[in-house]
Amino acid sequence: MSQATRSADVLVIGAGVIGLSTALELRRAGLRVCVLERTAVGRGAASWAGGGILSPLEPDGVDDATLPILRNSLAGYADWCAGIQALGGVDPEYTVSGVQVLAPADAMQWTQAAEAWGLRVASITGDATASAPVVTLPDVAQVRSPRLLQSLLQAFRSAGGECVENEAVHELVGGERVVGVRTGQGTRHAAVVVVAAGAWSGQLGAALPIRPVRGQMLLLQAQPGDLQSIVLREGRYLIPRRDGRVLVGSTLEDVGFADTTTDAARDSLLKSLRQMAPALADRPVIAHWAGLRPAPQGRAPVIGWSEERRGLFVNSGHHRLGITLAPGSAREAARRILDAKA
Ligand SMILES: Cc1cc2nc3c(=O)[nH]c(=O)nc-3n(C[C@H](O)[C@H](O)[C@H](O)COP(=O)(O)OP(=O)(O)OC[C@H]3O[C@@H](n4cnc5c(N)ncnc54)[C@H](O)[C@@H]3O)c2cc1C
Repeated sequence: MSQATRSADVLVIGAGVIGLSTALELRRAGLRVCVLERTAVGRGAASWAGGGILSPLEPDGVDDATLPILRNSLAGYADWCAGIQALGGVDPEYTVSGVQVLAPADAMQWTQAAEAWGLRVASITGDATASAPVVTLPDVAQVRSPRLLQSLLQAFRSAGGECVENEAVHELVGGERVVGVRTGQGTRHAAVVVVAAGAWSGQLGAALPIRPVRGQMLLLQAQPGDLQSIVLREGRYLIPRRDGRVLVGSTLEDVGFADTTTDAARDSLLKSLRQMAPALADRPVIAHWAGLRPAPQGRAPVIGWSEERRGLFVNSGHHRLGITLAPGSAREAARRILDAKA
């Protein structure tokens, strides 16, 4: 490999939805950007495993500091998807499915939160079977997460960005000032290094308080129209894809970096399915997977310059909301990096 390809203006560690969307934003601003991914894009990433619902799963799912990023993401998500599809040719399947929140403990809290996120509340009604309230948010959309990743990857490459797969970063290079990274293939240099390594972000020597939280998901064989909208109940959900298949998610497990699936989670998800949509209970399960969410210490993702090491920027810790927050987080990260370079 020539010396020229081993240096860039910005090196991004991790080709999940956060790393790729940040890289694309910086590339569009004219910087030479290289993304390093330790596996093939998608394999092992939370972004591949995610459900792709574009809103918080709980009314208190976002802290005040993250609210502007959430609103920024939700307001422009459809256009953002259209833009990356136009650049790279892959459809991320942005679909307005709407959400029905079943039996929320506090329907008014949901209503107020949805309004703060910039989402319409269509109705609060009694549920015929449980005589409990149902809050309907008709504008909530979804993307198909693995396709979003491919869409971002192709858009980034079409825009002239470099994404190197199967090259793991072992450590940051430089002391107080980070000047690059050491990988299995040697050293790469850059003026700015962005840590976007998801649940593994704390393993690169930058002392980040980010830990893995496992989430398991089931995929059901079903037909288009079997389920009309996303259904949410006590943090569990059903998501109908365009081809009719239905996702059943998801668990929240503190089990370190173990990304295996378990029978107990499968049983628990099937129990949630029976509660939320009894008519789908007999549909065959055609896949079962696990992903590791990057959970921060508090509720806010970590988006900003490292206080200890100059040249090091972090965009990570998006926990249950990384797909939702990706465009706003990427814009925020790019703005701060470009401001510092100006
Ligand atoms: C089951 C489940 C359901 C979810 N549902 C939703 C949802 O409905 N809506 C929503 O908004 N969010 C959802 N999420 C959360 C969302 O998926 C995550 O917040 C988001 O994908 C995190 O993206 P990321 O890019 O930070 O991390 P990741 O997608 O994990 O990407 C990190 C990448 O970094 C790479 N990497 C790690 N270490 C290194 C290294 N040393 N060198 C090079 N590369 C490295 C990894 O291989 C990986 O590809 C869900 C998550 C799960 C697990």
